[in-house]
Amino acid sequence: MTRPPITGDQTYVKSINRNVLLRLLLDVPGLSRATLAERSGLTKSTVSLLARELLDEGWLAEDDVAVTGSLGRRPTPLRVAGRGLALIGAELGTDSIRVVATSLHGEVLRSRAVPLHDRAPDVACHQLAELVTAESARVTRTGARLLGIGVGLPGAVDTAHGVIQFAPNLGWHDVEVGHRLARELVAGGLAQVPVYCHNEADLAAIGETAFGSRPIDDPLVYVSCAVGVGAGIVLNGELFTGATGAAGEIGHTILHVDGLPCTCGRRGCVEAYVGLKAVAHAAGRLERGEVDRAGLAADLANPRASRARKAFAAAGDALGVLLQNAWTTFNPRAIVLGGEALTLGGPHFLDAAVDRLARFGRDAGVAPPAVRVAKYGDLAVAVGGAAFALNALLRPVGHDRGALRVNPD
Ligand SMILES: [Zn+2]
Repeated sequence: MTRPPITGDQTYVKSINRNVLLRLLLDVPGLSRATLAERSGLTKSTVSLLARELLDEGWLAEDDVAVTGSLGRRPTPLRVAGRGLALIGAELGTDSIRVVATSLHGEVLRSRAVPLHDRAPDVACHQLAELVTAESARVTRTGARLLGIGVGLPGAVDTAHGVIQFAPNLGWHDVEVGHRLARELVAGGLAQVPVYCHNEADLAAIGETAFGSRPIDDPLVYVSCAVGVGAGIVLNGELFTGATGAAGEIGHTILHVDGLPCTCGRRGCVEAYVGLKAVAHAAGRLERGEVDRAGLAADLANPRASRARKAFAAAGDALGVLLQNAWTTFNPRAIVLGGEALTLGGPHFLDAAVDRLARFGRDAGVAPPAVRVAKYGDLAVAVGGAAFALNALLRPVGHDRGALRVNPD
């Protein structure tokens, strides 16, 4: 584990200044050197020097400028190009693993999804590491430089150590995912690439803000609806993760006192009503504790079968209650919904949630926040991993870094 130095030498100061320029240009593409100097507080000559370096390394590109008669040549607009630079994001789900390679702007260059072979920590971590290592090797074979890897995990994560503390839907306690992954990356010749492990909904929230449209909706609450239900909360451009990384575990807020049992040990949690297993159970599509996804999809497509539609509508209605509570707790500018329950249930699930939230709003005479679906759909967490790795790289000493480089040792 290494922390960046608090006081730095020239190289370190330079890297901070480079990051400042990159962040400014990611937020507002097309700024000139003079405007960058103005906004960063750096001198024009420092900006010119750093811009030259960033252009040479492929981070930046210059846009063409028109020469306009008596006005002469306009200042050259700069933008982040990320030529030959790539990021990798991954999601370890309760039933599948997704891996994506992206550009610095969040364009998905490649994506892969495979079923999780086994939930035993050793086997699952190895499968995750194999897939991430293979994708990383593929990226570097194309001649691109891999800047970082971000991995989303379904539970509370100790980000500094890459340890998943509690993942009820995997049955895991204190599994060192980060170190296992880093060890296998080293064996694959990728020792220099930093790895960040984080809660899945947190990453999806970061992906929405880092790669989403501008201006950013802030505060933003991302609610992930899958077998587990959780939230990522962005406040003032930073993730709010709580004292131990467990903030946003809203799937375990209570919907019904002494209600249905939940995997966390409590009763009446939101997850016991909204989680995909709860939906599958209500729809008669839970086979030996596993969600029959194909069966659920077939039922939804069959106009004569209404049980699955009713199950998703009831779960959506319960989700609406959760959204109401998130609204009054965080007063977000937007709520973003993602996860496979949303993909599977579609409008049966989503409309019921939005209707319930709107009804609460009408009762109180206040308009609820905008609710929208995740920009990256099922890839939201994996793409969020890539976004997180980029953020960590560009804000190495910001107090929102959330994760430190997991060094193999
Ligand atoms: Zn619970």
